Amino acid sequence: MKINSPLEAYKFLPATNCGECGEATCMAFAAHLIDRSHKLTDCKPILEEKFKKKYEELDALLAPEIREVEIGVGDKIAKIGGDDVLYRHKLTFFNQTQFAYDVTDSMDEKDLVERVNYIQDFKKFYVGNFLTVDMIAVRCTSKDPAKFAAAVKKVIETTDLPIILCSFDPAVLKAGLEASKGRNPLLYAANKDNWKEVGELALEYDVPVTLFAPDDLDMLKTLAKTFAAMGTEKLVLDPGTYPTGKQLKKTFTNFIKVRRAGIDGDREIAYPIMAVPFTAWMAHDDPVSASYWETVVASVFTIKYGDIMILHSTEPYAMLPELHIRDTIYTDPRKPVTVDPGMYKVGEPTADSPVLVTTNFALTYYTVESDIASNKIDCFLWAIDTDGIGVEAAVAGGQLTAEKIKKGIEESGFDLKKDTTHNTVVIPGLAARLQGDVEDATGANVMVGPADSGRIPGWMEKNWPPQKK
Ligand code: SF4
Repeated sequence: MKINSPLEAYKFLPATNCGECGEATCMAFAAHLIDRSHKLTDCKPILEEKFKKKYEELDALLAPEIREVEIGVGDKIAKIGGDDVLYRHKLTFFNQTQFAYDVTDSMDEKDLVERVNYIQDFKKFYVGNFLTVDMIAVRCTSKDPAKFAAAVKKVIETTDLPIILCSFDPAVLKAGLEASKGRNPLLYAANKDNWKEVGELALEYDVPVTLFAPDDLDMLKTLAKTFAAMGTEKLVLDPGTYPTGKQLKKTFTNFIKVRRAGIDGDREIAYPIMAVPFTAWMAHDDPVSASYWETVVASVFTIKYGDIMILHSTEPYAMLPELHIRDTIYTDPRKPVTVDPGMYKVGEPTADSPVLVTTNFALTYYTVESDIASNKIDCFLWAIDTDGIGVEAAVAGGQLTAEKIKKGIEESGFDLKKDTTHNTVVIPGLAARLQGDVEDATGANVMVGPADSGRIPGWMEKNWPPQKK
């Protein structure tokens, strides 16, 4: 994106404040263009003929430095690339790394269906969301186009997840494309030997294609330029993933060079990057080492700058670190992760149950909630609106105050005197200094809980029910 302030985008908008985009003013819309929560086409007036020039100019200015490529169709469509910065704190990273897990056309049909179902059903609950994986990479190990087509057909019958067709043989890729018509698969891959045939397939079927030039960035760029001249920019670049030793270091440097060039404005190489941590399985005979190194390599290239990757290990000890590191890297640093403020019931609370207060920072809320629920403590838990800031910082910054706690409880319609037998609120240990103020504001008894929610069960044993005063 070549502009980064709403004011710069505003200059190109019709400035009628008509509200058709759902925003009250063009300036508000401009702010959403910059944070990418609206698309330029959401402004219908700018699509009129008289604004055509401004539309085209603004559209070019808003285009991300790294092209965005789509794989698959419908609800499960995967978008990769689309980044504008090398360092997340300068803006944010868009379109999290897509994880594709492999199946092969030599697998028994029952095993293949089972593995695809395992991949598409895998999920892990974490701070209010399910972490899931994204794609199936169908590898041709049989060298037989008919067998490959049958495997691709079985995969797309079993799942709506996007797929990658993996072979260097154009005849095999063509068979896979015929079997997956209308599913917009990614081809893997064109290289210096097969580029002409694979390029023609990508154009004929109008699908994205990976360009593979292991440890040869000049060749990678030449392939990208050739494909662009042939008429497609739906490209993904694979500079080769070497999973061990000095070669791994070289791979790391190659990824950084490609991304840096793209962000610095070299359009000829500004495409999403493919990493293949799966190569760890070729370097290690022992499955435990292979799985371990695959996870290490996947983590490294989730951080820098793999937009999509092909993986093999599906054991939770491999998948969970990969999912968590991706979630951390792609969390938008501009927006704290929050839960809706308000009252939540944990378990089946009654009038005798404790009333606990926390903040609406998702990580705090879900940690407290899980510590309480896993210890089978029934309670009312208030997430006070602190703009998504954790307890200690919110007390220091004035986002968690006695007034906010009073307002939060009142707004939920809960009456501490009538709805509980104890008229007591438990505030977090890190908010101890608010105790007197909360007592004055709410008229309730205020107890100070532990600083760490893991200690709530022990604290409850000693302190609950409260002594009658
Ligand atoms: Fe402005 Fe376009 Fe939104 Fe109307 S639809 S308010 S012209 S940005």
